[in-house]
Amino acid sequence: MLPTRGYATKGPTERLAPFTFERRDPGPRDVLIEILYCGICHSDIHQARDEWGGALFPMVPGHEIVGRVTRVGPRATRFKIGDPAGVGCFVDSCRVCESCKAGLEQYCERHIVFTYNGTEHDLKTPTYGGYSSQIVVDEQYVFKIPPKLPAANVAPLLCAGITTYSPLRQFNVGPGQRVGVVGLGGLGHMGVKLAAAMGAEVTVFSTSSSKEQDARRLGAHDFVATKDPKNLEALANRFHCILDTVAADHDLNLYLNLLRRGGALALVGAPPKPMAVNAFSLIMKGRTLSGSLIGGMRETQEMLDYCAARNITSDVEVIPIQQVETAYERTIKGDVRYRFVIDMKTL
Ligand code: NAP
Ligand code: ZN
Ligand code: ZN
Repeated sequence: MLPTRGYATKGPTERLAPFTFERRDPGPRDVLIEILYCGICHSDIHQARDEWGGALFPMVPGHEIVGRVTRVGPRATRFKIGDPAGVGCFVDSCRVCESCKAGLEQYCERHIVFTYNGTEHDLKTPTYGGYSSQIVVDEQYVFKIPPKLPAANVAPLLCAGITTYSPLRQFNVGPGQRVGVVGLGGLGHMGVKLAAAMGAEVTVFSTSSSKEQDARRLGAHDFVATKDPKNLEALANRFHCILDTVAADHDLNLYLNLLRRGGALALVGAPPKPMAVNAFSLIMKGRTLSGSLIGGMRETQEMLDYCAARNITSDVEVIPIQQVETAYERTIKGDVRYRFVIDMKTL
């Protein structure tokens, strides 16, 4: 076994603190990755505080992992020692169900092994995430990280990037389409960059009017301060699709009403409480409310390569791991520009 240092929380009201645990010895097809950077996703906060229910403690969060391969199992062929490598929200899946076969491992119908707050295939051994010094993963579930991109800025692509890329692709976003992005945080700012790169006209909906200049720099063509609902009414029936990245309770109907006939709102934010949908927000214009979970292995690698070709990365604030609790508090307040990333050297 490999002794590993990390940060863990022991319960929903505890603080993250140093924690030592063991990783398995790399198997024949595993690679051992020294973790250089790990992003802080709002999902880390939801789970560390057990806001979604069913959390497993102690929990080492972190699923936006970038590092360097330091050991390669004898039958692993995709990586060699020293290669940059990335790990996202899951580290294995059943590989045989319809979803896995379709390259949609995130929707695995048997057992998906989440990077943390999950269990291995034995349904017992807990998984521990990226707020740690190293991780062992089957090479089939490891991404190739384009070496030309700065590692700290790439880390958030492994969750925030793919979670916004996937629905934008699903809706065939491109020139001539108007796309709304609700919430300018980690997911939202990637959604803006990606939708703009795909050629869409992008509008940001934000509770923070101080983010307007940034929104435009990130590629948005328009910015709507949502504190005043009148600003929304003026935009009724305008958008082909809207990405809703908000992490807290909010009124979906306000945004559904902004969709054109047949338009779709993709929910990617995961607020813990149920949200009310007014039937008329959907039926009067044949609108769709859909959801989307991260992306599969193939699409995530496609997104990384897409970003490398266009020099798209995340805007990050790199922090030492000792500041992780402060980063959580600031993220909850929407005070993040636009993703905290932990420098794992500081562990
Ligand atoms: P984040 O960085 O905290 O961004 C969320 C943004 O939502 C905030 O920056 C803020 O933007 C806005 N917001 C916050 N509270 C709000 C409120 N009460 N009303 C309206 N807007 C509010 O979080 P994130 O990491 O991007 O994650 C966003 C959500 O997506 C979380 O729920 C997370 O769990 C979920 N998620 C889902 C997936 C998936 O696969 N579907 C993947 C990753 C994350 P403004 O300041 O601009 O208003
Ligand atoms: Zn995430
Ligand atoms: Zn499966």
